[in-house]
Amino acid sequence: MLLDFSTTFAWRCPFCGELELNEINIFYFSGSSRLEIKCGCDFTKLIIIKNNSKRYQLKYNCIICESEHRIFYTQSELWSNQVKKIKCVENGAELGYLGPYAEVKKLADLEEEYLELMMDKLEFEDYFSNPEVMLSVLNILHDIAENSGLICQCGNEDIEIEMLPGKVKLTCHQCYGAININAETKDDLLFLKKLRKVKILEGVVSALERTN
Ligand SMILES: [Zn+2]
Ligand SMILES: [Zn+2]
Ligand SMILES: [Zn+2]
Repeated sequence: MLLDFSTTFAWRCPFCGELELNEINIFYFSGSSRLEIKCGCDFTKLIIIKNNSKRYQLKYNCIICESEHRIFYTQSELWSNQVKKIKCVENGAELGYLGPYAEVKKLADLEEEYLELMMDKLEFEDYFSNPEVMLSVLNILHDIAENSGLICQCGNEDIEIEMLPGKVKLTCHQCYGAININAETKDDLLFLKKLRKVKILEGVVSALERTN
């Protein structure tokens, strides 16, 4: 087994949520048996204690079950080039990674991407009263716009589309006419599907039902 006596932690700070990479090597343990890894916010994320020449202890506060966990690695495990997943001891959820820099970095990047996707998805679903209908309404409007069906009476064809929780607002910035399209129920969707053209009345703010 290859040991290069350096390893990288990817660990999300339980205090500020930042996922940082920290590289350590065996020389940190030459003068001391205890190493604290701190986040940029100064919170101590991990404590590594060298119990003896063959055994290392890793201590961390778990964000999942909010208690302190301790795991042990042998010297060859800790410095090996195999990626180790650090988990919540109670329920097995992955909290971080330990291993060669390149591989740990890849895993950390993936996790950040995944988290961003989840956040976007949650925000999207929280914001709209009916996210599925909203998506379909946007699709239909997009088709209508592609066929030059999204226009304003004043002659402007550059219409701004704004998404609100239960409706879409189309605004003409030339004359400030606007039209609201409901995007909440299946009926809203069926109604919109029949349309080929959405025309804003010059300088008038209206709702789609009344003008069509
Ligand atoms: Zn932090
Ligand atoms: Zn835990
Ligand atoms: Zn206009």
